[in-house]
Amino acid sequence: MTEDILINVTPFETRVAIVGQGAVQELHIERSVQRGHVGSLYLGKVVRVLPGMQSAFVDIGLERAAFLHIADLRENRSERTQGNSVTPIEKLLFEGQTLMVQVAKDPLGAKGARLTTQISIAGRMLVYLPFEPHIGISQKIDDDTERTRLRERLEALTPDDEKGGVIVRTQAEGASDEEIRADLDYLRTLWRMIQATARTAGAPLLLHQDLTLAQRVLRDMVTPLTGKIQVDSRTVFADMVAWARQYTPAVETRLGHYSGERPLFDMYGVDEEIARALSRRVDLKSGGYLIVDQTEALTTVDVNTGGYIGGRNFDDTIFKTNLEAAQAIARQLRLRNLGGIIILDFIDMEDEGHRQAVLAALEKALQPDRTRMTLNGFTQLGLVEMTRKRTRDSLAHQLCEPCPTCQGRGNVRTPRTICYEILREILREARQFNPREFRIVASQDVIDLFLEEESQHLAMLGDFVGKRITLEVAAGYVQETYDIVLM
Ligand SMILES: [Zn+2]
Repeated sequence: MTEDILINVTPFETRVAIVGQGAVQELHIERSVQRGHVGSLYLGKVVRVLPGMQSAFVDIGLERAAFLHIADLRENRSERTQGNSVTPIEKLLFEGQTLMVQVAKDPLGAKGARLTTQISIAGRMLVYLPFEPHIGISQKIDDDTERTRLRERLEALTPDDEKGGVIVRTQAEGASDEEIRADLDYLRTLWRMIQATARTAGAPLLLHQDLTLAQRVLRDMVTPLTGKIQVDSRTVFADMVAWARQYTPAVETRLGHYSGERPLFDMYGVDEEIARALSRRVDLKSGGYLIVDQTEALTTVDVNTGGYIGGRNFDDTIFKTNLEAAQAIARQLRLRNLGGIIILDFIDMEDEGHRQAVLAALEKALQPDRTRMTLNGFTQLGLVEMTRKRTRDSLAHQLCEPCPTCQGRGNVRTPRTICYEILREILREARQFNPREFRIVASQDVIDLFLEEESQHLAMLGDFVGKRITLEVAAGYVQETYDIVLM
């Protein structure tokens, strides 16, 4: 089973779709105005030190101040590893101080970016650690002889004057000494340039940004399963070829420039897929459907049968729906990039064998997803709990915002509820003020109700407070918005 990669480039955004088994499996969108910050190096300025929380806020030029915790300070780490007593943050940082920081986590929801001073710069095969003189091997390489072999090679390739260290990425397996040395040279040169800028510039300043999305496709997303990589921009295609030639020569032949009439994403129905990946409901072929709810704390996926299931094959229908749901869930998690705690509510199954089969199907369907996950079995309540590492914002967070009408609740107070709120409010204000007249300014639906079904209540209230109450439709007002104007 191979997966093709499609890259759609416009001046305002780059979109990457990974397509396999005839369906979109994964989406990455990078808008020029909101490129992710993870890995970016900044010259930051400390704006506040919080001794109580052993942390600090640092201005790196983003909308919200970024957060730096003592555990992510280089000094603290080296003290801890040497077993020394730990210096408190207020002795290490002061307000107004300039320091080089790296974004470890993008701003998410209401939280600012999370920073570290343990700088690392990722290359194709190595991650360079300018302040940490040691050679580490990626945990994903689990063969001991391979680990030892890579360590020895790196020791031999590292120049004697090198004060930093490296982590060897999985891509280094099978790479030649020349390739590894080229990567190390590139990273060392880059670091020298960053330092030179940091010495002379003022904070806040962006010192170094991670690769563009198109370059990251080549560095991070290409796997042995990758088939064709098609990109619809001639310039980006040329850039990618140049980059691939230098860093990933084996990938070059898979790159293609798409110059067809029809938009590249149309050919594979990617835009429709994006629209579906933003909706709450996902229909299954069997007639069942999923309801996906994403909250700040967790994501729930509820599996439903499509209406009435009767007849003799009741258990069988449920089993089949759950099997199909397991596939769909795995794809939706990856497509929507849902992270954190995820609770799956399959339709109840009596048969333990069926439950195990659904779990196995889910596990298998999750395999192509490169994100780190844990999957637990059914809980006593018949739910499946799992976690998926939160890396970047989910698709919905990236493309949507809470509905301004309902503030993200998903429902709005009915016109009648609003009518009664208004009546109570007039009663309250009549005790405080003495206007000639009250004017209710509200949405069409609320005003209609006052004119029809609620006209009697309105008249009674007018009598009671002894004032004229007039009505006015405000065209731009949503259902929950109103004003009571004292005339
Ligand atoms: Zn809403």
